[in-house]
Amino acid sequence: MDMENKEQESEKTEENSYEDVCFVCHRPESKTGKMIHLTKEISICPECMQRTMDMMSSGNVDYSKMDFSRMPNISMINLADLQNMIPKRQKVKKKAPREQKETVKKTFDIRSIPAPHRIKESLDEYVIGQEKAKKVISVAVYNHYKRVAAGSEADGIEIEKSNMLMIGPTGSGKTYLVKTLARLLDVPLAIADATSLTEAGYIGDDIESVLSKLLAAADNDVERAEQGIVFIDEIDKIAKKKNTNQRDVSGESVQQGMLKLLEGAEIEVPVGANSKNAMVPLETINTRNILFICGGAFPDLTEIIKERLNRRSSIGFRADLKDKYDHEKNLLAQVTVEDIRKFGMIPEFIGRLPVIFTLDALTEDMMVSVLKEPKNAILKQYQKLLQLDEVKLDFTEDALRAIARKAMEKDTGARALRAIIEDFMLDIMYEIPKDDNIGQVLITEDYIEHRGGPLITMRGVPALTMQG
Ligand code: ADP
Repeated sequence: MDMENKEQESEKTEENSYEDVCFVCHRPESKTGKMIHLTKEISICPECMQRTMDMMSSGNVDYSKMDFSRMPNISMINLADLQNMIPKRQKVKKKAPREQKETVKKTFDIRSIPAPHRIKESLDEYVIGQEKAKKVISVAVYNHYKRVAAGSEADGIEIEKSNMLMIGPTGSGKTYLVKTLARLLDVPLAIADATSLTEAGYIGDDIESVLSKLLAAADNDVERAEQGIVFIDEIDKIAKKKNTNQRDVSGESVQQGMLKLLEGAEIEVPVGANSKNAMVPLETINTRNILFICGGAFPDLTEIIKERLNRRSSIGFRADLKDKYDHEKNLLAQVTVEDIRKFGMIPEFIGRLPVIFTLDALTEDMMVSVLKEPKNAILKQYQKLLQLDEVKLDFTEDALRAIARKAMEKDTGARALRAIIEDFMLDIMYEIPKDDNIGQVLITEDYIEHRGGPLITMRGVPALTMQG
């Protein structure tokens, strides 16, 4: 008896490691969403089912012209006959769960969220500079999750949500900051681009699709998703267009559409798909405890700030030179809600993002630090790669400066660093494994500036220069 149970049990686990495949499009269930089972062996995905239904209901199918003679000895469709045509097992082996998931250890527990200074200390290990931003975000996240843990207290005092608006130039670490935070807190994170969002009914992703992404990031666990973070990038691109009298479909209405999401509402979200249709199962997600962080570069915002400051100082005694603020570095940090409104964000929208902060453009010094200091710095990654070949990789300080200088010229922030490094590391990664005797490689400024090769040291022999 016991044996029999065991056998059944092992059959079940064997069965569990397979997933259904759509009879029509052959995609597995993990791609299509929940299958509809026509018989035990035949399943069809929601999309194909929908298409079939649409086709039938459109009345475009003329059954009288269909040639059933090719079908194996059937005049009427008989599912039992169909079964002979399909492989015995209409399933594919499920992919093994990603190993990475197990190795990522969470630093914090959101139920007993650590003090803001501890959150900032952890962010410091990854994000260079941006002191103010890290401080603000640490306090906001601390308050947010404390609010979540507290729930709606009986005293009727409802703590306001700390959704954030992050303003900073391209490549200053906006996305990186949010990603690092979500990883430290071990909460699901969805990243969406505001430019791809449209109101329901237009071409593009519905605004609610960001919640589908979040649900997917939470492995379809609604409770986990409801405590996650949504990052909406390029939020400045949905600013109201200036000087137009027409209804502005792309910008203002998307902002309008996002209001209830930001504030907290029960929203029906399709599981495993971007849009709702009859066949996709829906889950209800409450966005009350979801932390929304919006980010954007807001390119002309400094002009608006300058104009305001100039206006203020040109009255009466404080009249000043017009270009007084032209060379001021931290102009963006002086931003006010009024400036953002002037830029084209509607007041209700800004009102739902009470925490506003700015990030600085990276300086050359910061770029050098980005290269070598973060826990997962690019240099450390290359050093580790070469270490596996027992080769020591080093960079001179001048070389790092040269890389930073080149990156500064590109004007895309720290994003340029990786491209520059990858370019010259390709040769190193190609040449070094050719010779087992190479023990150390020193990247010099001359190599970065294409004036020479890197300094190579053979094992047990003095240094020599590789032909560049
Ligand atoms: P954006 O501000 O445009 O969202 P990202 O966050 O995508 O910029 O930055 C691009 C990459 O540059 C990141 O993946 C990260 O590796 C690096 N980076 C940018 N800023 C910083 C920073 N302050 N500290 C460390 N790395 C950074």
